[in-house]
Amino acid sequence: MGAFSLITDAERRVPRVVVVGLASCFGCQIQITNAEPYLMQILGQIDLQYWQLVTSEDMPDEFDVAIIEGAVTTREAEQTVRAVRERAAHVMAIGACATTAGVTGMAAPGLGGRVGEVYEGAAPESSGELIEPRPVSAVIEVDSEVLCCPIDPMDFVAALQRVLFGSNRLPDTRTLCSDCKRNETECFYNDATLCLGLVTRAGCGARCVNLGRPCNGCAGLSPDANVEAARMACATYGVDVAAFDKALEMFNQVNPALAESGDE
Ligand code: SF4
Ligand code: SF4
Ligand code: SF4
Repeated sequence: MGAFSLITDAERRVPRVVVVGLASCFGCQIQITNAEPYLMQILGQIDLQYWQLVTSEDMPDEFDVAIIEGAVTTREAEQTVRAVRERAAHVMAIGACATTAGVTGMAAPGLGGRVGEVYEGAAPESSGELIEPRPVSAVIEVDSEVLCCPIDPMDFVAALQRVLFGSNRLPDTRTLCSDCKRNETECFYNDATLCLGLVTRAGCGARCVNLGRPCNGCAGLSPDANVEAARMACATYGVDVAAFDKALEMFNQVNPALAESGDE
């Protein structure tokens, strides 16, 4: 996926980039601005045609790279990402909302009932036609992802570099513990404290654990995760298995792999 070069065409055109926000807190778009030391260099290498965070204009019809933040929660958003896919040579999903449905995914079970609870009836018309929240990859093919809630600005810079200049690097699939062990921090389970690093996708370098906090799984479930073994580890170390399952829902509510693991 994404095996193309944007800078080797005859005209050596600067790639035209759009940044689109769906259902999100816009925090990951803010994080892009936090890549301050690199922003001018980034802007020198792309033709930033549209950034939803900072404009009221319409998105242009033609572009090369689409960066999407946020979950797909309405029919309109579904149409938007399909239209983006038709036009973009490369689609990058950024942040937990876009890559896992994130916190918005927690509204998926019993959507109608939950919407009714929040809005005391039906959602306002301006919300659009609500559908069960889903990640962008559940609607269209995604070429690259930047994980976590929020994204790390430097992860974004590195991902954009790979899009612009090419890379044969494969996405990380291992679990967070493998990175955490190398950091030689004390494991939370030694203190009977729940940590989702057991089953969460690696890539952040165990950022939260390094700061003294357990992982809450914002990178999403690792494809290599053994959820049942993790439950057994919880039981062995005195951590409530039901609490583990509940915590896992925050960023994996609509992940089919979680349902397959026997959680549902
Ligand atoms: S992933 Fe987190 S920070 Fe990014 S848009 Fe979603 S809620 Fe906000
Ligand atoms: S469970 Fe958490 S603290 Fe323990 S090794 Fe894994 S990531 Fe680190
Ligand atoms: S340690 Fe866990 S919660 Fe913290 S950034 Fe990494 S994946 Fe997200």
